[in-house]
Amino acid sequence: MNKVLLTGGSGLVGRHIFEIISKAKYHVLNISSKDYDLTEKTQVEELFKKFKPDYVIHAAAKVGGLGGHIGKNSNFLYDNSLINLHMINQCIHHNVKKLLCLSSVAAFPYNCTNLKEELMCQGPVHSSEFGYAISKRLMDHYIQACRKEYQSNFCSVIPCNIYGPYDNFNLENGHVIPSLIHKIYLAIKQKTNLKVWGDGLSLREFIYVRDLAGIICTMLEKSILPDRIIVVNPKTYNIKEVVNTLAKITRFEGDIIYSNDNMNGLRVRESDTSKLKELNVGFPSTSLESGLSETWQWFLESYPNVRK
Ligand code: NDP
Repeated sequence: MNKVLLTGGSGLVGRHIFEIISKAKYHVLNISSKDYDLTEKTQVEELFKKFKPDYVIHAAAKVGGLGGHIGKNSNFLYDNSLINLHMINQCIHHNVKKLLCLSSVAAFPYNCTNLKEELMCQGPVHSSEFGYAISKRLMDHYIQACRKEYQSNFCSVIPCNIYGPYDNFNLENGHVIPSLIHKIYLAIKQKTNLKVWGDGLSLREFIYVRDLAGIICTMLEKSILPDRIIVVNPKTYNIKEVVNTLAKITRFEGDIIYSNDNMNGLRVRESDTSKLKELNVGFPSTSLESGLSETWQWFLESYPNVRK
């Protein structure tokens, strides 16, 4: 039975991958930072020496929403680069047969409006999440070098905004959907209006976490992995549409106030999904409304024990 090491197993993506992969024909080791601190080279070496994985799904990272990156770019760059370099390096040392690393569309140039895999490094990243984005690019470069020099079957999986149960619902550091869910919850409870960062007009792609996890687990069955692959639900929504859908699901009837505080982030992000379709590993199919409904239900049932 092949052994799969899953990093980031306590996080949003890792939990859903584990849910699927633990039912498959693998022996899985699922770790979080409490088991091994992947910024520490010696701990990563010990992890690989002990477990000797055949396959690795690397979903661990220091992650934050738009607010979470402010003033912390150096920290995101340093920690994530260490984590990724140590992980890939050990995959080389231990002849890991397949490695899937979670990257992000944040690694693309800030002014790139139609994302295609080959355009990833063709211009500067957005300054707001510079540290995180550069660490993803560095990871991608290391993967490319290993593929060239050692014919490694290593791949960068590049998702857009992910959301779903087990997300980080922190009001300041969370991503747009989980923080909106938490804000609406509080606004309903406290009978106040809903304040939303930015003007609500930025367009985004969102992927429901179960869709992404399913695709990643199916990719693990492929004998040859691509070097990079964009995994997104290509339907775009502006933030106002997300807010209105959430207001409908939650039956929020208060006022919605958009601020002109420059918290709009990147204006447009649309991706080319032709490579994903060609790979034939499934395609994101959960609609925004049903993904948001499931996430809202989970949030209500899990509060106050959600990550926040
Ligand atoms: P989460 O923040 O939900 O989970 C992060 C995971 O990484 C946790 O299990 C955490 O462990 C672990 N981790 C963090 N630091 C360390 C460390 N030093 N050593 C070991 N483990 C560590 O992130 P997501 O699940 O949302 O993200 C998964 C991947 O997907 C990441 O690579 C991220 O960059 C990428 N991604 C995420 C997007 C999103 O919208 N969420 C969008 C695009 C890409 P612990 O719980 O113990 O802290």
